[in-house]
Amino acid sequence: MDSLERELEKIRKKEAEILAKIDKRNKKRKIKCAACGSSHQIQELTLIQTHWYIAPTGCIGGDFWKEGEMQFVCPDTQIRNRLFFYGGVSPENPENTVEEQFKSKYGHLFKEVIEEYEKHPRGYRVNNDFYTNRKNCERFGLIDKKER
Ligand SMILES: [Zn+2]
Repeated sequence: MDSLERELEKIRKKEAEILAKIDKRNKKRKIKCAACGSSHQIQELTLIQTHWYIAPTGCIGGDFWKEGEMQFVCPDTQIRNRLFFYGGVSPENPENTVEEQFKSKYGHLFKEVIEEYEKHPRGYRVNNDFYTNRKNCERFGLIDKKER
């Protein structure tokens, strides 16, 4: 193999190593749980991606699901916490809301992810809200344009 290709391969290997290290660090980051008052590591939590149903309207509208909020389940009380995200978009990538940034950085690090399609989600207890504010954005390495 040519030396340039070898060099590139080395860099890619290094990149993969660093990404793995970042994931390893990130999955230990803790989310404050308002259900029990303590904080839980992301790797210990079940994430629920909710979807809500848009009923059919007229001839062509509706009849589909939209992605809703994320929730995590307190492993001690089984009470759900809603994960709400305020904030703007990252200046580097305007498509990237704070919520999208969180999903791409942390979504795969939860113990389990449940995609929930529930037309009338009433059978569980939902508690309290978790908001990204300036402090939480910093803690999770998310960029909020409004906070800059
Ligand atoms: Zn808890």
